[in-house]
Amino acid sequence: MPAVVLLVLLIVVLVLLLRAVGSVDPSIPAEGIAEGSADEPILAVKRAHVRLSPEGDEATLTGLTAGSRYAVDATAHCPRGCPEPRPTCRCGFYAMRSDVESRNLPHEASWARRSEPLSVRLDVELSGVVLEYDLGYRAQRQRVIEVGIPDRCVPCAEQGVDRQAAGLIARPRRVGSHLSGQGNPYLGDPSLRSWSELRSACIDHWVSEPGWPALSLSELADLLDTVVAWEASGTAGPVGR
Ligand SMILES: [Zn+2]
Ligand SMILES: [Zn+2]
Repeated sequence: MPAVVLLVLLIVVLVLLLRAVGSVDPSIPAEGIAEGSADEPILAVKRAHVRLSPEGDEATLTGLTAGSRYAVDATAHCPRGCPEPRPTCRCGFYAMRSDVESRNLPHEASWARRSEPLSVRLDVELSGVVLEYDLGYRAQRQRVIEVGIPDRCVPCAEQGVDRQAAGLIARPRRVGSHLSGQGNPYLGDPSLRSWSELRSACIDHWVSEPGWPALSLSELADLLDTVVAWEASGTAGPVGR
């Protein structure tokens, strides 16, 4: 009867093995798995441009100089096909640790200087695969939690006058050039060629012209589907102020 003994032994070993396996799984704390796989979003800051569709019924965000338009909640798409940002590629959403760094950019990079003063501040939440650098991040997923619009009138500033802004006006995109040192150097997405730029305007300059609407901050918030707030000029600080 050694075959029967062997069979019984085999069954006993199998049952013991199954019980062991069964007792291993629940012994891994469920909280540990959840924490490991759930991404804690990282708060970061970046600068961007807001563009308005020719009909004035759609708004979008773009980078200062490159990349395509993006929605307030977006996942990075790599033209080279990376499923997620990789150190060997340049894809993903770029953002900086704090507004101080993002505001210092214009002093350090001429492309950023030319894109002022029409850029806005974005407070963003980064998640998914996030690569970390000295000054900031490159992320797979980005959600814009607030858009900060400079509260000084742009047309007044062009005449050397400092005046509180009251709303936003859509105007043709000013193409930046090395000669003028002014305007938006963004070429990027060809589908946005006819989209206008938004500028802060004082109560006197906050007027619509045929084909160029004037918007309130809450109207822009509705179009973008996120929070839009005035940003006092000269205020800079860490995220989550
Ligand atoms: Zn890539
Ligand atoms: Zn003005």
